[in-house]
Amino acid sequence: MKRDVSKALFERAQRVIVAGVNSPVRAFRAVGGDPPFIARAKGSRLFDADGNEFIDYIGSWGPAILGHAHPDVVLAIQNALMNGLSFGAPTALEVEFAERIVSMVPSIELLRCVSSGTEATMSAIRVARGFTGRDVLIKFEGCYHGHADHLLVKAGSGAATFGEPDSAGVPAAIARLTLTLPYNDIAALERAFAESGHTIAAVIVEPVVGNMGCVPPVPGFLQAIIDLCKKYGAISIFDEVMTGFRVSRGGAQSLYGLHPDLTALGKIAGGGMPLAVYGGRRDIMSKVAPLGPVYQAGTLSGNPSAVTAGMATLARLDDALYTKLEALGARLEAGLNDAASKAGVELCVQRVGSMLTPFFTRGPVQNWDDASKQDKERFVRFHRGLLERGIYWPPSQYEAAFISAAHTEEDIDRTIAAAAASLV
Ligand SMILES: *Cc1c(COP(=O)(O)O)cnc(C)c1O
Repeated sequence: MKRDVSKALFERAQRVIVAGVNSPVRAFRAVGGDPPFIARAKGSRLFDADGNEFIDYIGSWGPAILGHAHPDVVLAIQNALMNGLSFGAPTALEVEFAERIVSMVPSIELLRCVSSGTEATMSAIRVARGFTGRDVLIKFEGCYHGHADHLLVKAGSGAATFGEPDSAGVPAAIARLTLTLPYNDIAALERAFAESGHTIAAVIVEPVVGNMGCVPPVPGFLQAIIDLCKKYGAISIFDEVMTGFRVSRGGAQSLYGLHPDLTALGKIAGGGMPLAVYGGRRDIMSKVAPLGPVYQAGTLSGNPSAVTAGMATLARLDDALYTKLEALGARLEAGLNDAASKAGVELCVQRVGSMLTPFFTRGPVQNWDDASKQDKERFVRFHRGLLERGIYWPPSQYEAAFISAAHTEEDIDRTIAAAAASLV
C-alpha cells in the first residue's frame, strides 16, 4: 500500500496544526502509525491521497448513515448554496428542519439549532441549571458529551465523591460540580440522589454509549434516570448526538420507548455539515433567551446549507433503511464472532443496529471498568491488519464502528475476511 503522499502531508500538517490533526483521535496515537489523508469519499468507500481505497466504518464518526456524498444530499446542498451561505436571519429552511426533528423525536417540543454536539450538550446543561436553579451535574464514566469544562471530569477517589478535572485547563471549582458515576449502575444512581438529590440540576447520559465502544443500557437503567430526575426535580438529558437517527428513526429514546426531558442531537442530524440541536420539554426550553433568562446564541446556527444537508439526510431515513442496517450489522457481528472463535481469540462483539464494537475481552462490557480490561495490543494488531487490507476501522478500542446504507453484503464479507486475517 502506497503511503508517500499521506506521510508527506502529515509532516507538513504537524508544522502548522496541533499534532497535524483538528481532533485528537485522528492522529492514530492509540494504534500507532500515520493516518491516511483522505482525498474523497463515495458510498461506503474512502480514497486517500495516495489513491488507496478503503471500506469505511467510521462514517465521519457517525453522520454518514446514507454513505458518503449521497447524490440527493449533495444536490440539495448545491442548490441551497446558490441562494447564499448564511444570513444570520430566520429562514424557511430552518423551520422545515425543526418541524422534521420534532416529528421524528417525540420528546422534543421546542428546540434550538447549534453548530456542534459540544455546543448542544453544553447548552442543554445550562438550560437545565437555569430551569432548576441548581448547579450539580451527574454524568457517567466512559460517556463523552463534548469538551465543555464541566464534562471533562473524572470521578474523584472514593464512591460518590465529586469530580476532578480530566483535562488541564478545567478549573477544579467547576469539576467539583460534576458527579461521575459508573454506567449501568442503578444502585449508585439511587445513592447519589438519596444523598444530594435536591442539589442535582441534571443527569446527562448516552442512552447507548458509543464513546467507550458500544455499550447498551441494562434493562431499567435509563428508566431509573428518568424516574429519579422526576422524583427530585432534576432534568434528564439524553445525549443522542451519536445514537440519534442511528439506532432507530427516533433515536435510542424511541427504541426503548422513553421520554427524556431534554435531548441533544448532532452528527446524522447535520448530514455531514456542522449542525446540532438541543431541545425537549416546552416549559424548560422556554427559559432560553429571548423567551427566558438562559443565554445561548450562534452566528452560524441553523445556516441554510447545514439545515439543508440535515433535512436531505433525515428525509431518507425510512423503515427499509433500518431493516437493511440491522441485517448488515447482524451479518458483521456474526462474522466477527465466528472468526474470533476459529482463531481462539477472546472477543465480545456488542452491537445496537448499525453501531458495533468488538471488545478484546471476555465481556459483557457494561461500564468503563469492563471496557478498560481489553487486550490493547491485540486491538492494535487488529486495526493495523484491517487498514493494510483496505478496511478503515476506528483507530481506538474505545470507539464504535458504523455501517451505512451504502454498505453491501459483499463489503461486510470482505471485512469479515480481513478481520479473520487480522485476529493475530
Ligand atoms: C460526537 C459526540 C459529541 C460531541 O459532538 P461534536 O460535534 O464533536 O462537538 C457529544 N456527545 C456524543 C454522544 C458524541 O458522540
